Amino acid sequence: MPERTYFDWNATAPLREAARQALQDALPVSGNPSSVHAEGRAARRLVEEARERVALLAGARPADVIFTSSGTEANTLALTPGIETADEKRPRDRLFLSAIEHASVLTGGRFPREAVEELGVDADGRLDLAALSQALARASRPLVSVMLANNETGVVQPVPEAAALVHAAGGLMHVDAVQAAGRVACDIGALGADILTLSAHKIGGLKGVGALIRARDDIHFADPLIRGGGQERGLRAGTENVAGIVAFGAAAEAAQASQAEEVAAMLALRNRLEAGLKAITPRAVIFGEKAERLPNTTLFGLPGMKAETAVISFDLEGVAVSSGSACSSGKVQPSHVLAAMGVSPGLAQGAVRVSLGWATTERDIERFLNAWRKLGTALSKGHGIAA
Ligand code: PLP
Repeated sequence: MPERTYFDWNATAPLREAARQALQDALPVSGNPSSVHAEGRAARRLVEEARERVALLAGARPADVIFTSSGTEANTLALTPGIETADEKRPRDRLFLSAIEHASVLTGGRFPREAVEELGVDADGRLDLAALSQALARASRPLVSVMLANNETGVVQPVPEAAALVHAAGGLMHVDAVQAAGRVACDIGALGADILTLSAHKIGGLKGVGALIRARDDIHFADPLIRGGGQERGLRAGTENVAGIVAFGAAAEAAQASQAEEVAAMLALRNRLEAGLKAITPRAVIFGEKAERLPNTTLFGLPGMKAETAVISFDLEGVAVSSGSACSSGKVQPSHVLAAMGVSPGLAQGAVRVSLGWATTERDIERFLNAWRKLGTALSKGHGIAA
C-alpha cells in the first residue's frame, strides 16, 4: 500500500502499544470474571485493574466506573429520567442538551421526545449559558447533557460553568467526554459533572468498549438498559468484555501518562497545519477558531468546496480526512453542529475535518499541505475540482 497519512483520529484512534501488549497478555485468561474459581478470579483481577486505570483518568473512584459496550451505550444509559440521588427519587422531568451533541445524545436517550429541549451555541460553537439558565427555570428536576469537546469543531464547552448553573437549579449534569479524554483534563470533580461518558477507541483502546462514570455512589440508575446477571453492580448485565476492558485500562493509563507531552506536540503540529492552510488559501475558514479547541482538531471550509469530493481527492493523495462527523455510516448529511453555529449551508457542506493524534508527525503535516496545495489552489482558481 502506498504511504498513507491518517488525519481522522476523532473518528477513531489506532490501538496504543500499551493496549496491544495488555490485550495480548489478557487473551489467554479465559475465565468468566463472575466465577469464583481461580480462572474466574484471574479474569476478575484484570477487569478490576482496568477499572482502576479508567477511574484515574476521570478522577473517579473505581467503584463508580460502569463498563459498557461503547460511548453510545454509556450515553444512552445516562440519559434516562430514572436517575435517583440520595435526596431525589422522583424521575427527572426535563432533559436539556446542547444542539451540537453527538447523535447518541441528541436522540435524548430514554426521555420522551416532548421532555427534551436543545440549547443553542454561539457563532464560535460554545454553549449559550444564558439559554441554559432560562431553560433551567422551566424545570424542577432537570438532567443536562453537555459534551466536554465537540467531535467536529473540537470546541471545548464551558462545562464547569454550566454545571454550576445546573446544580444551583437542583439538576444533574451529564458530560460526554469521549473526544476530550487524553486531550484536555477530564477530572469529573473539577468539571462538576455528576456522570461522565468515555469511549475506549478514541484513546487507543478497542472499538466497542466504553464507560459511564459516576461522581458519587448515591447516583443510581433505576432502569438499567440491559438486565440479566448482576454484572457492573446490576447496572449493565452481560459477561464483561475482559480483553476489551483490559485494553481500555491500558490505553487510559498511557493516555494519562503522556497527555502533557502529546498535547504539546499535537498543538504545535496543528498550528503549523492551520498556518499552512491559510497561507495556501487565505479564504479558508476555520470553524470555532476563536474558541478554546482541542489541540488536535481543525474543521475548515472553503467557499465552493464540496466535502465529499474533497475527502475523496485527499484520499487519492494518500491523506485520510473526514467530512464533518464521521461517526455515522459514510452518509453525507449537513452538519448539525455548523448549522447550530449559524454557518451558511453553502460553506457548511464543504467542511472538512482534520484530526491529529499522538503518532502524527511533521511529515504528515507536509503531506497534508502538499495535497491541499493542489486541491485548494485549484478550487480557489475555480477549476472546480470539488464543484
Ligand atoms: N460521543 C462523541 C462526542 C463521539 O465523538 C462519539 C463517537 O464518535 C461517541 C460519543 C460514541 O462513541 P462510540 O463510538 O464508542 O459509540
